[in-house]
Amino acid sequence: MTYEEILDLPVSDKSHAWSIANTLYKKGIDDIMLFPDIPGKIKENLNKIVCQGILKPVASEKSSDGTIKYLFRNDRSLEFETVYLPGKKRNSVCVSSQSGCRMGCPFCVTGKYGFRGNLSVRDMVSQVIGLPVPEKVTHVVFMGMGEPMDNLDNVLKACNILSAEWGPAISQRNITVSTVGIISGVQRFLKDSKFNLALSLYSPFPEERALAVPAEKKYPVHRIIEIMNDYTSEKRRRMSLAYIMVSNINDTDKHLEGLKTLLNGSKIRINLIPYNSIPGDRNISSSPGRIQQFKHELIISGISASIRRSRGIDVSAACGLLATGMK
Ligand code: SF4
Repeated sequence: MTYEEILDLPVSDKSHAWSIANTLYKKGIDDIMLFPDIPGKIKENLNKIVCQGILKPVASEKSSDGTIKYLFRNDRSLEFETVYLPGKKRNSVCVSSQSGCRMGCPFCVTGKYGFRGNLSVRDMVSQVIGLPVPEKVTHVVFMGMGEPMDNLDNVLKACNILSAEWGPAISQRNITVSTVGIISGVQRFLKDSKFNLALSLYSPFPEERALAVPAEKKYPVHRIIEIMNDYTSEKRRRMSLAYIMVSNINDTDKHLEGLKTLLNGSKIRINLIPYNSIPGDRNISSSPGRIQQFKHELIISGISASIRRSRGIDVSAACGLLATGMK
């Protein structure tokens, strides 16, 4: 619930609503009877009408690099995974927006798991505030299971709660939502929010992209990039392309030139990501040297480029591997 929705409950004033939101979202206390600063009578009334609480993970696996993958199961028995990435300067959570996914990208285990259902706002917010970790989460990326634009109402509301002053207060600049590019969703997301957007690219060539990202057939990448370009002047919002690099598939010189053409004059950043082979796939990641070379060539062409380090591979928590082992 948002602060405004809490205010609609039988609480007597704004300070009570603020205190409830703070206790729930900042301190992670979800037992109404333990809320401080709220008169006993109000707590009893609230307890009768609202008590869903924060969802907690049912299992976890820790990687040798410190990454932790959590399994959640919600009240509709939908299962979904969340990845916690602690670091020296930032602690990030990779949140799922759906159980499974209906986009069917062949290089992704979640796509093979199929679509099981949309996650609720509570399911998503709980993936950040329900983790049993002592550190404060500083960054949130909606890059877990699912296509966020396919569950946009709930994703936007979860982002708004996570960034609210009365909530966990994670900076809007530190919240990124990833998409394969559902156009109506991208337009609404950019118009109605200030959060960062990351588009999964895979190939600068539409016919080739369609083989890896079937959504391309309906939502052409050139159109999505045009829409993103219209918003790159907003200083506080980061726009990026995620480019998973597969050896001899999309890391050739032709692809490099295609990327330069696609991003010519654009302020969109490109994030190069080593490919994590999924079970049964013979493709392998581009070598670190080739990825570095791509980055270098893009930068000297005036395109902002970076390399994302893969983490949590040994517990199948890395990009494209969520839902591994789930039935
Ligand atoms: S890559 Fe993203 S959109 Fe494609 S199937 Fe996987 S989770 Fe869905």
